[in-house]
Amino acid sequence: MLVLDGRPVRDAVLADLAAKVREAPRPPSLAVVLVGEDPASQVYVRNKEKACAEVGFLHQTHRLPADALQSAVLDLVDRLNRDPGVDGILIQMPLPAALDAESVLQAVRPDKDVDGFHPQNLGRLVGGRPGTVACTPRGVLRLLDHYGVTIPGRRVVVVGRSVIVGRPLALLFNLKGRCGDATVTMCHSRTPDLESVTRQAEILVAAIGVPEFLRRRHIALGAVVVDVGMNRVADPGARKGYRLVGDVAAAEMAGHAGALTPVPGGVGPMTIAMLLENTWEAMVRRREHGDA
Ligand code: NAP
Repeated sequence: MLVLDGRPVRDAVLADLAAKVREAPRPPSLAVVLVGEDPASQVYVRNKEKACAEVGFLHQTHRLPADALQSAVLDLVDRLNRDPGVDGILIQMPLPAALDAESVLQAVRPDKDVDGFHPQNLGRLVGGRPGTVACTPRGVLRLLDHYGVTIPGRRVVVVGRSVIVGRPLALLFNLKGRCGDATVTMCHSRTPDLESVTRQAEILVAAIGVPEFLRRRHIALGAVVVDVGMNRVADPGARKGYRLVGDVAAAEMAGHAGALTPVPGGVGPMTIAMLLENTWEAMVRRREHGDA
């Protein structure tokens, strides 16, 4: 079984960006909005800060308390939208339940929306002319491309229809082109007899959020399996008291799947790499439009 390791691919993307930054008139700048104390979000934001520092991007993290008012978050987004020194804005999800996440995401200027969650960017994807593409779906395609997995003409099944992973990824697989032209099925929690559908997949993507949900019986012999899941499960033996597992029972894939992305170390590193690439591209676009 081929292991689709995301780390060397991320390292190559970061090295390429660092080289471009050294030649650029100014480094790109990423602003992250973090509301509340969600422990996983704190880790993700720290990782983003570290990756920015590694490639020479400027970064700023704006922390608001968990009980921040909607108006305070929107004011901050408005300030970042108008700040000519900010190229990319990322709202760290999930936001506290009391906030209207949808309207916060919509408030981000589409050309600074490095997460690709703004309706304008999602709409462009549906229209077949993608603008900024969400980082995780973009990372999955880049990873498959790097390892020479052919996509056109293949039967692809995506389990999960979230707006941040499953749905944009299914749309990307469906677009015309070298990383598209697949025949795509999207499944979700209401899909009856899931395994009869997933077993049809030559390329199977799990973006579910349920630890080790997909077992050997769900997967065709030789299939390429992309495990987007990142789930914390309690593990008293682990230093942090938990370990990360995917949505696929990885131990059951040996001798069965043709290829598998590890968790951690598969799709996760690609997500950060694509965030930086989106931020770089946002800066280039803004410069071309005379905005920065
Ligand atoms: P989400 O918003 O909770 O969506 C989960 C999707 O899975 C939903 O569409 C849901 O169906 C479907 N689902 C749930 N239970 C199912 C079942 N029993 N059978 C079939 N489908 C089922 O999650 P998400 O944000 O897409 O994230 C999914 C996973 O990816 C999580 O583990 C998350 O931590 C991880 N993730 C990783 C990265 C990365 O960089 N590696 C980035 C983002 C997310 P319904 O729509 O019917 O509810």
